[in-house]
Amino acid sequence: MTPPVSYSRTRQWARGVEVLVSKVANKLRAAKSCRRYYLAHKKEVNKYHRDYYRAHKEDRKKYNHRYYLKTKNLSSARSRAWYEKNKVKALKYRRTHYLANRKEILRKCKIYVQKNLSWISPRVAEAKRKMKLSVKMHLGGRCRCCGEREPEFLTIDHIHGGGSKVRNKQGFRKNEVYYYEIYRAMKAGRSVSKKYQLLCSNCNLSKHLGGGVCAHKRKASSLKKVED
Ligand SMILES: [Zn+2]
Ligand SMILES: [Zn+2]
Repeated sequence: MTPPVSYSRTRQWARGVEVLVSKVANKLRAAKSCRRYYLAHKKEVNKYHRDYYRAHKEDRKKYNHRYYLKTKNLSSARSRAWYEKNKVKALKYRRTHYLANRKEILRKCKIYVQKNLSWISPRVAEAKRKMKLSVKMHLGGRCRCCGEREPEFLTIDHIHGGGSKVRNKQGFRKNEVYYYEIYRAMKAGRSVSKKYQLLCSNCNLSKHLGGGVCAHKRKASSLKKVED
């Protein structure tokens, strides 16, 4: 408020300031007395709120969800900024919390996944497909033996054999375990090219049947022998 020129206006202005000050003071007083009342009747008040929430659960849920949607971008940006700033602390906390409550977390997680299978399983399948494709591209994107490039035909091959032994030992029936191993190595920047290679299904099977050598190579070497 800017002070006015005339006397009556000045009085008016002073009165306005007075009213404002008393309003603020009233609010503060009210807040204090609220706080006092709450502390004195904590149990009753909490019970009242809890009962109210239970009685209006659906409404409250809807309201909370609307509020969430309204402030989603803002709050997620805020929490992301906080996370970036406190990353080490946050990760440490998450880890200790997980280890302390592992059983309960996994149980809840399982229930949640079972309830939401309809949208979770296609996402998981898509993520797996992408992961496998990136692993195949990382290993060169083509069959080491015949040069086949179709990703669906390509498989991971243990260069020195022994894949089924590893699978049985680790309790994995599927060959996904290799993909995860390679994917982790890929992310960490470790090389796996000495252990794994890409072969198409034909060459992989043929290598298996031919005691470690694909028919392509067997034929090539036998032709060479004939030529010699
Ligand atoms: Zn091949
Ligand atoms: Zn081959």
